[in-house]
Amino acid sequence: MSIQEVLQVPIHETFQSTVQGEGFWIGALVDFIRLSGCPVRCSWCDTGYSDGGANAPREIKSFTELIKELQSSRVVISGGEPFIHKQLPQLVQALLDTDRQVNIETSGAFWQEIPSSAWITLSPKHHLSPSYPVKELFWERANEIKFVISTGQELEFYNDYLLTVKDRPIFLQPEWNVRDRAVSIILDLLKQNPNYRLSLQTHKYIGVA
Ligand code: SF4
Repeated sequence: MSIQEVLQVPIHETFQSTVQGEGFWIGALVDFIRLSGCPVRCSWCDTGYSDGGANAPREIKSFTELIKELQSSRVVISGGEPFIHKQLPQLVQALLDTDRQVNIETSGAFWQEIPSSAWITLSPKHHLSPSYPVKELFWERANEIKFVISTGQELEFYNDYLLTVKDRPIFLQPEWNVRDRAVSIILDLLKQNPNYRLSLQTHKYIGVA
């Protein structure tokens, strides 16, 4: 039995040949591997982990099964929180070994070293969940930073770190449940920070997963 048949990971869901709806890679054709589980408990979590995810999907799949499903040249690993899974570095490497590009979306609350060619989207949640600060290394490692904006106070919380990530793209994304109000807040924030960009969850507007 090969190592990829032995290695397994709990899956929330997977879907193929869709578009990345938000952030830097918006519009890119991608497959999604959503790993199961996240302890951060954001109140507005749209994946079902606001209560810890007791009833969230959790299907164990081998790396071999996951790789067989793939259709696109770019794979987004999201969650839940991908970095809680100790198999993540091996999963990323297994996907890279198929000549695909890999993106990972994380709250940054759990650190693991992963291959340097993987793109990391850091979406901090420390302001919502005091027990889950962003691990310092993520501020250096992240390729893009995405803040979900609800009140407009979110950026102030991360002021010290924002000074260190000026060389990376920074996206402000309205929290979906209050999107009309949040877009208005973001437009004001963009006037104060013209290098930042608005990120809309376009997959929700066009009705794709
Ligand atoms: S960090 Fe992400 S997956 Fe976890 S509860 Fe918050 S929004 Fe949901």
